[in-house]
Amino acid sequence: MSKKNSVLLLFTGGTISMAEDASTGALRPINFERLQELLPELKQTGVNIKSVPFRPLIDSSDVGPEIWEKIARLIATHYDEFDGFVVLHGTDTMAYTASALSFMFENLTKPIILTGSQLPVGMMRTDAKENLLTAIEIACAKDESGASIAPEVCVFFEDELYRGNRTTKKNAEHFSAFSSYNYPPLAKAGVHLKYFTSNIRYPHKADKLRVRTKTNSNIAILKMFPGITENAVRAVLDMPDLKAVVLESFGSGNVPQRSWLGKALKQAVRKGILIVNKTQCSTGSVEMGRYATSLNLVNTGVISAYDCTTEAIVTKLMYLLGEHTSTAEVKKLLQIDIAGEMTITE
Ligand code: ASP
Repeated sequence: MSKKNSVLLLFTGGTISMAEDASTGALRPINFERLQELLPELKQTGVNIKSVPFRPLIDSSDVGPEIWEKIARLIATHYDEFDGFVVLHGTDTMAYTASALSFMFENLTKPIILTGSQLPVGMMRTDAKENLLTAIEIACAKDESGASIAPEVCVFFEDELYRGNRTTKKNAEHFSAFSSYNYPPLAKAGVHLKYFTSNIRYPHKADKLRVRTKTNSNIAILKMFPGITENAVRAVLDMPDLKAVVLESFGSGNVPQRSWLGKALKQAVRKGILIVNKTQCSTGSVEMGRYATSLNLVNTGVISAYDCTTEAIVTKLMYLLGEHTSTAEVKKLLQIDIAGEMTITE
């Protein structure tokens, strides 16, 4: 008799964990037992599902490094017992959690699939059912040799499976809430679940799973806009304990040509603050030096985020600064694709 597939379901919160209270009509968090009542199909999957509810269930706006660590530790502790892992999560910061987890797990051989929904699970037109059932199917999917087909940290939403650290929440209204602008999907769910294995990262068989969960949040995002003042820039760069800044630039990595800006950035770099140039565009890559407006940044020591999402570069910085004390080491690793998060074009 073949062994039943098994999935560890981490139930962190978000809209997917809510249902209408029959008496008041207000949305309230539900437990796994109620989720099973609302989605009887869960039992029909034939998959052994063990759920771990977080207490309290939280809106993903309240998810941060402690919850990332809790998720990572739970998965690491139960890694050998399950075929795959599904994380039910609010959609608002799902792309950050997926990105953070992708850096924390090295040599992953099993899928970690994050999903959620735009409508609460207890509502008639909810998208929770398709999202959760397909995420479970993907978490268990194996090839002929018995190896997982998608052993990555992924986001499954609506009908596409994405590399988690390439995702961005793009829509607060539609069921198709996520996009992976700079990397193709890993699978598409239609009549069949079609995997694009050439887009999936596979670890070297011999490498052992490593889980590292330390982070450092002493970073900031500095978004450029026409007319930005020196005061605004200084307020960010002079923050106490600042270790790194994500400089959100225009187009292919451009910033206003103001001597005070160049000076402020140069001073920050001299103080040992890492400055990473990330374009405000959703699609495409930073290409410093293409225009005069980004040429000086190269000389200043600003690092390119290439085509990373903000979610990926923010969590990569937090992870690298948590794991390494040497700025030179963090700088080196920032320019390496460590979890499929960026395409290096130079
Ligand atoms: N505010 C909710 C959350 O992110 C939205 C959702 O789940 O879709 O937790």
